[in-house]
Amino acid sequence: MAHTLSPAMQEAAFAKLGLDACYLPLELHPRDFLAVAKKFRHTPLAGFNLTVPFKEAVLPYLTGLAPEARAVGAVNTVKRVGSGFKGYNTDCFGFIRSLREAGFRIRSKRAVLLGAGGAARACVYGLLREGIREIVILNRHPEKAMKIARHFKAMDRGGTLRALPLRDSYLKEALGSADLLVNTTSVGLKQDDPVLVRPAVWPERKLWVVDLIYNPATTPLLAAARKRKCRTLNGRAMLLYQGAAAFEIWTGRRAPVKAMRAALENSLGAS
Ligand code: NAP
Repeated sequence: MAHTLSPAMQEAAFAKLGLDACYLPLELHPRDFLAVAKKFRHTPLAGFNLTVPFKEAVLPYLTGLAPEARAVGAVNTVKRVGSGFKGYNTDCFGFIRSLREAGFRIRSKRAVLLGAGGAARACVYGLLREGIREIVILNRHPEKAMKIARHFKAMDRGGTLRALPLRDSYLKEALGSADLLVNTTSVGLKQDDPVLVRPAVWPERKLWVVDLIYNPATTPLLAAARKRKCRTLNGRAMLLYQGAAAFEIWTGRRAPVKAMRAALENSLGAS
């Protein structure tokens, strides 16, 4: 939480539009969440963001859920509505907008996702909504990948879903026909983290490789992808656009994306 970039981004947006608002970071133990949320009922709080482990834990306390939050099963943005709180998931919008901005066309493509946490679920939802043809989810604990595949298959959103253990043989087979590889795991946050795609596993074809990690800008996976002349994208634009979507939910105003991007880059430069 000490390194959260959201306050800089949101406060830049408030300043740009001349809104009398502030965005404060608050670190809570899960057991204190309910008591603190109750206290906020008596303040002019418009809403808040949540991160792990609250994205799912908050669900029972909400009085409404936006369709994408219901589908993903996780909330990262909460808006006060009357005396209650409505949950949204802006990660899926941020992810899709960042892909579109980079120039990747999703419709009828094949994607491979590494990881099966909350971010993976948001990506799966966004990709299916945009008409992806196939998603293969590989995870260290494969039962979590299977759970996601079952969940979205039951929603029948079109697109084929497969779940596999994160092993070289499965990854090689999946990458052989993929157009897009997305790392949704936290592997790569540290420069000495391993590259989950080992040299023998990379396919001949040129993939798009996306890493949701936004700091460092170039993870070991993205560095390896660039060596193979793949197009790459880090998680910075996703972070920006999930924040812009949250701003619009809270304020009903169009987010000043340019000012938010400048604040984000400034904070990342300083971090
Ligand atoms: P999460 O729910 O905790 O999931 C973490 C995932 O990483 C799980 O699939 C986990 O596998 C996998 N993992 C962790 N360590 C691993 C290892 N050593 N080897 C293989 N797999 C490993 O976290 P999350 O919320 O989905 O976030 C995941 C990443 O996305 C984080 O780096 C986060 O910063 C990033 N993110 C970025 C944005 C953005 O706006 N750019 C938004 C959301 C998240 P197991 O299930 O097997 O443990």
